[in-house]
Amino acid sequence: MVKDIIKGEHIFLKAEDMTAMDMNVITDLEDTFKANRKDCVGLAANMIGYNKRAIILEDQEEKKTIVMINPVITKAEFPYNVAEGCLSLDEMHPIKRYRRIKVEYYDKNFKLKKKSFSGFTAEVIQHEIDHTNGIII
Ligand SMILES: [Zn+2]
Repeated sequence: MVKDIIKGEHIFLKAEDMTAMDMNVITDLEDTFKANRKDCVGLAANMIGYNKRAIILEDQEEKKTIVMINPVITKAEFPYNVAEGCLSLDEMHPIKRYRRIKVEYYDKNFKLKKKSFSGFTAEVIQHEIDHTNGIII
């Protein structure tokens, strides 16, 4: 189901782990991401009303949508500073990010994945994972 994207800093709380019972969150993330695709590169479940650790984003290199369940960044290298915007916030925020990261997450079939990402895709992943940890930007 396409959900409204909620605005405001209050939505970003430390989220709960996803379980196999929460797959409706993924369906709604996919539908909402598709509906907002032209002004959105990633979404966290908190932004559509679920306090769950799930994110969705476009992998810029592989040109495909990735769903990450319970994602954790296990390695981060090459820090830089950037200003980021967010569909749930009105103004840009300065933040430190890492050019290359390694992420462990479960895919839609609850298979564990360990993958490295770099560049803009890595930045989007860091932004969305921060949201699931209660960090605004
Ligand atoms: Zn955001």
